[in-house]
Amino acid sequence: MRYVSTRGKAPEQGFLDILLSGLAPDGGLYLPAFYPRVARPELDAWRALSYAELAVAVLRKYVADIPPADLETLCRRTYTAEVYGHGRADSDASQIAPLRWLEPGLALLELSNGPTLAFKDMAMQLLGGLFEHALAKRNESLNILGATSGDTGSAAEYALRGRRGIRVFMLSPRGRMSAFQRAQMYSLQDANIFNIAVEGVFDDCQDLVKAVSNDLDFKRRCRIGTVNSINWARVVAQVVYYFKGYFAATRTNDERVSFAVPSGNFGNVLAGWIAKQMGLPIARLVLATNENDVLDEFFRTGRYRPRTPAQTQATSSPSMDISKASNFERYVFDLVGRDPAVVRELWWELDTRGEFDLAGTPWLDKMRASGFVSGSSTHADRLATIRAVHQATGVLIDPHTADGVKVARPHVEQGVPMICLETALPAKFAETIVEAIGRAPERPAVYADLESHPQRFDVLPADVQALKRYIETRAGSGSR
Ligand SMILES: *Cc1c(COP(=O)(O)O)cnc(C)c1O
Repeated sequence: MRYVSTRGKAPEQGFLDILLSGLAPDGGLYLPAFYPRVARPELDAWRALSYAELAVAVLRKYVADIPPADLETLCRRTYTAEVYGHGRADSDASQIAPLRWLEPGLALLELSNGPTLAFKDMAMQLLGGLFEHALAKRNESLNILGATSGDTGSAAEYALRGRRGIRVFMLSPRGRMSAFQRAQMYSLQDANIFNIAVEGVFDDCQDLVKAVSNDLDFKRRCRIGTVNSINWARVVAQVVYYFKGYFAATRTNDERVSFAVPSGNFGNVLAGWIAKQMGLPIARLVLATNENDVLDEFFRTGRYRPRTPAQTQATSSPSMDISKASNFERYVFDLVGRDPAVVRELWWELDTRGEFDLAGTPWLDKMRASGFVSGSSTHADRLATIRAVHQATGVLIDPHTADGVKVARPHVEQGVPMICLETALPAKFAETIVEAIGRAPERPAVYADLESHPQRFDVLPADVQALKRYIETRAGSGSR
């Protein structure tokens, strides 16, 4: 499989080439040259596979430059009960990503039983293995630099801890994460993990990462890389659980299902779109936003209008508080018939006018026919949904998943199971849960006394030179 840029002016690349890089050199995002179709006999055979086997089957279609036996080993080591057994006490431990029916026709796909109790572990753990493999092959090492306000950073650290050839430098705003989030990251004692508490807010952390990344000489010399949500390997690893969810919710491959997806940067639901392009019988992709409804606005009207940071609200489903959706360009590329000239023009409009509008173009109808529907949710909706689901079923859902359930309801069709992706466990968002049901959520046993574990982090001022010195002295030598 070769990969092409959405802007059409970058060289085609293989999977391993794009694995370790970010944006394409022309400013676009890499996508596979085509989506392989899964024919009916193959889909029938996939129904019997374990999660790890399913991951191998999906990934083999997209990865030509890792030997099949190595890919198999990677997937078998990643998708184990040990890695994904941190969830609710009553979750089906024999399954990776088990399905839980809330009522007839409405189910949760449990994606948050990994080490950080959020769905990002599903892809990030595999990414850790892929990085290690790619670096070993090239006899190289890599220093991952990132900024986090909580979730992404911890998922990356838990995926990369102890990996050979990789060090992680993760910036977080000092004193501004929840005690649980702080403990989750700072309690890691692995020698290749560097937690840096910055004297500032999250934006300061992000600015520092940008400043270091823009110093191309430093970036090359210290071999700086990232693990952000545009990483293609993360997207393709997420495709796997759409297949898994479909098989778990149906008896035969004649049936259809819909998925509801709490969305932020459009990575998760993009994977659903790709599963659908591969031939998985998906009726609807229900995109759920919170009050930050830039994507809901697009799917209702065709107008894509990214917000400024000042227009972006801090909500009780914080991992969906986005101002623009970094993976969205990949969907638009498909929507406009994969014509990079059109994508370039739309993003030129975005850069000059701050928005584009598909109304009055043929693509609006294509968007309407593409299976996407959307809706948004509020803090009051989240509380009401958490309470109602808990009362009716005894199952406690987190605020992000509640956004998904709330938006899914009006789109449930007779005879088509609606699968809501569970993107985090309630234990991570105790404050909102207390507000909804009057008591704190239970914690998975492994995290019972998390805050009492010794913590390891360094404090730095919000200063680029100080950060560069810090990295330079710890980045290690060029080869392994
Ligand atoms: C990252 C995240 C999301 C948003 O996922 P995208 O792939 O960015 O759309 C939703 N919920 C939780 C809990 C998350 O951590």
